Amino acid sequence: MDKIVNRKQQLRLFLTELISFMVIFSILGLIIFARFQQSTYANIDKGLEQRAAIVSKKPMLMDRPSDFKTITIYYDKNGKILNRDSLQRFSASILKVKGQTKDLNKTFSKQVGKATMRGVYVKVNADTQRHRLPAGVEKRNNIKNNDFLKNAKYAMVLQNITPDLQGINRFKNLLLAALILFGLLVFIISYIVSRINMKPVLKAWQQQQDFVDSAAHEIRTPLTIIQNQLEGLMTKPNDTIKDQIDPIIMSLSEIRRLNGLTSDMLTLARANSNAIAIKKTSVVVPEFMSEVLDPYQEFVQSEDKQFVIKTETTQSVMLDTKRINQLLVILLDNAAKYTMPGDTITVRTVIENNSLKIQVMDTGQGISDANKKRIFDRFYREERSGNKETGGNGLGLAIAAWIIKAHNGRIKVTDNPGGGSIFTVVLPIK
Ligand code: ADP
Repeated sequence: MDKIVNRKQQLRLFLTELISFMVIFSILGLIIFARFQQSTYANIDKGLEQRAAIVSKKPMLMDRPSDFKTITIYYDKNGKILNRDSLQRFSASILKVKGQTKDLNKTFSKQVGKATMRGVYVKVNADTQRHRLPAGVEKRNNIKNNDFLKNAKYAMVLQNITPDLQGINRFKNLLLAALILFGLLVFIISYIVSRINMKPVLKAWQQQQDFVDSAAHEIRTPLTIIQNQLEGLMTKPNDTIKDQIDPIIMSLSEIRRLNGLTSDMLTLARANSNAIAIKKTSVVVPEFMSEVLDPYQEFVQSEDKQFVIKTETTQSVMLDTKRINQLLVILLDNAAKYTMPGDTITVRTVIENNSLKIQVMDTGQGISDANKKRIFDRFYREERSGNKETGGNGLGLAIAAWIIKAHNGRIKVTDNPGGGSIFTVVLPIK
């Protein structure tokens, strides 16, 4: 089920990325193509308009060989072609292209057989009587005289734009090929990126899932105990509280456990959503430490354990006292939980390399190397005989790790040479 959900999410991410990239590339391709097409037509039209401007003022035969793509057709007022002789080398169908007086001066495209012609139809305003063809033109075009142009009323300038259109087409194909190639690249990149992007999401999702699973499990156990105890009480309605003190004590202890669990879970949930701000104030280290540690002195000694306090600094530092107090309580509770009568718990505080270093050392059961990293995971508890009775929920060190992270500090756990563990917390003070 989880796998299917993950696949679906990954696929959605992949498709979103792919489609976004493709849309961007397509728009880019379309813009480039439109610009290219537009500038090609603009160039052609500019040439045509220049030519049209000349012929409308001064009708002349300009169909020189170098300019074979462009033809100028002159018409008299009845629409009869005047320069038919000079146009013999062009196909008759070209000469059939007719201009409309309503479309004067407007460029247009027309398909003539296989060729595409672009043209402009203009009115000839010239005083054709005064016009003389340039020297050599008559000879080159085998024209005896230019009298035929004196009646010119309209002129059509036509250009064969088939090669230009082929150029546009070639460019379009090139662009399409580039798009397909980029599409393939994008396909591969999107796939890789979606996989990379999904990793932290999946990890967070899995953590969340595990957290909920473990939380439900942790809550169910005390609830079942309370339910059993209360149901047992219901079967003895005539007993006094004194008679049934054990189930009541057990239920209350489980309720206390549930209370602690929910408040720990709340702390972690709020820490996760950055809803808890760190408020640092200046504290004198020995004063702060004795405030936290003094209540433990009596408690630890009552369990026949030794409590040693080594505060080796008198400096003031900036700390979130509430959170550091919470951190120390977690470490001290653990030290007390996982030691036996006769063991020693030592708390050493020192300033080293611009950091406040706090070490909580015990001579207890110690932590196996394999578990040294995992004990900071939520709900992680070492599987050991006796661990169940300590009443922990596996959230303490996860909270400790968060508090240290919020202070930009570090925590590590090492073996105490004589047996037991050393938790070393380093908090930068600058
Ligand atoms: P809890 O103590 O409630 O189980 P923690 O997150 O505080 O949860 O600790 C996780 C686990 O790390 C404990 O279950 C225990 O196995 C181990 N641990 C923590 N502190 C010590 C210690 N001082 N000595 C030995 N084991 C410890």
